[in-house]
Amino acid sequence: SGARDVVDEFNEELGSRNLKDEVKVVGTGCHGLCERGPLVIVYPEGTFYSEITRDDVAEIVEEHIIDGEIVERLLYEDKSGKKIAGYSDIDFYKQQKRIALKNCGKIDPESIEEYFAEGGYEALGKVINELSPGEVIEMVKDSGLRGRGGGGFPTGLKWSFAAEAPGDKKYVICNADEGDPGAFMDRSVLEGDPHGIIEGMVISAYAIGADEGYIYVRAEYPLAVKRLKKAIKDAEEYGILGDNIYGSDFSFKLHVKEGAGAFVCGEETALMESIEGNRGMPTPRPPYPATKGLWGKPTNINNVETLVNVPYIILEGPEKFAEVGTEGSKGTKVFALTGKVNNTGLVEIAMGTTLREIIFDIGGGVQGGKEFKAVQTGGPSGGCVPKEHLDLSIDYESLLDVGAMMGSGGMVVMDEDTCMVDVARFFLDFTQSESCGKCTPCRIGTKRMLQILERITQGDGQEGDIDLLLELGDRIKETSLCGLGQTAPNPVLSTIKFFRDEYEAHINDNV
Ligand code: SF4
Repeated sequence: SGARDVVDEFNEELGSRNLKDEVKVVGTGCHGLCERGPLVIVYPEGTFYSEITRDDVAEIVEEHIIDGEIVERLLYEDKSGKKIAGYSDIDFYKQQKRIALKNCGKIDPESIEEYFAEGGYEALGKVINELSPGEVIEMVKDSGLRGRGGGGFPTGLKWSFAAEAPGDKKYVICNADEGDPGAFMDRSVLEGDPHGIIEGMVISAYAIGADEGYIYVRAEYPLAVKRLKKAIKDAEEYGILGDNIYGSDFSFKLHVKEGAGAFVCGEETALMESIEGNRGMPTPRPPYPATKGLWGKPTNINNVETLVNVPYIILEGPEKFAEVGTEGSKGTKVFALTGKVNNTGLVEIAMGTTLREIIFDIGGGVQGGKEFKAVQTGGPSGGCVPKEHLDLSIDYESLLDVGAMMGSGGMVVMDEDTCMVDVARFFLDFTQSESCGKCTPCRIGTKRMLQILERITQGDGQEGDIDLLLELGDRIKETSLCGLGQTAPNPVLSTIKFFRDEYEAHINDNV
């Protein structure tokens, strides 16, 4: 949206006024409020300017930087027309709790020194100098951290399985193969805080006894790949990666593996097949990766957001992490808020926050003042939550109870004009084309469900179609080999559950 032009203009303007030694222009990762970008924050006072273009730059330099006066007209304006200068006074940020995103939008992700300045790699130093691998695992267990990639499996427990598995050679993998339509949480962390992920990975490697790791990242995220590679190189130069880290006998090598964009490669076993150079197809479990993973060796796989929480847990203590959230879901969760919502963007909230707070207080409500109809959580594996559940507090279990799921954090808002049958068809079209074809229920079943949905949305629906969809959906969930097939029917099943009348209207009225 023109942010790079704004950076160039600032550099030119400051250069022409001989201010480049005094004022530094720092490009950061995502601030979260995508809807109002490009964003410019002037420090030390932290004045927040939004929707800045090249033409606004001279005014900010002249009035704010030289004369010390805030440029009122460029400040963020809220719904009531009030201008707000402070970052944390803006409704969008006020109710957020930033742990995973604490460095995003704050530091230059291409500078390891800026990461150091924010306390970066201190957790790793503490781990290597003061803690045994077992103590690290206990801390992660005590924090209550659960996998943020969708499954919600307790992270400390997962680490303990890999630590206990016999073997001299072990691996850690960061799953950065984010592929849900409408999701950009991992991408923002990869682009905005690559060292946070690396630090989390090195700590997990120390805890399980691994000496080698891979970050499996989509090739469609070229900026993330570039920044990860730079971050790895810088960490190697500082002795944070490589042999005898911080003078200890612990060594760790890290590689980036670019995936070709198959959604199924986000599934752990398919991802490892892909790293090994094979076609990315899931394999039956057991054996689980913790005992027989990459090249048959014990392997621990965590997603981006899970890993970036780890340095915070080590430095601040598991109790502090566990203070936030609900009984069964501790900490925060990052969501990509999109669809028919006013403040599209990246948000991080404490677990237990309600859907209403996310969509209306943080998201600013539905676009054009229209009625809220539903929100799709968990991407194509998730489900649609209707307005009667707007006060649902978000955690892993509560979403499952209403037929949706946390997933990795996609959240698509729909208004009164959205056809829910069409939404179900859209998501099923995606999963059906991403099915790897290995097992029959998913390969044939999703195709059949899609054909039925297509005829319904084209006005050719037949009596019995809804029951057929329900039956097929249940069978596919029960009998598919991997998570893709096991969750693919969810958008259809949840929309039939809450919006059956829309299916019936299509079929009965032939529309
Ligand atoms: Fe492949 Fe679908 Fe079977 Fe998974 S469920 S193995 S994606 S065919």
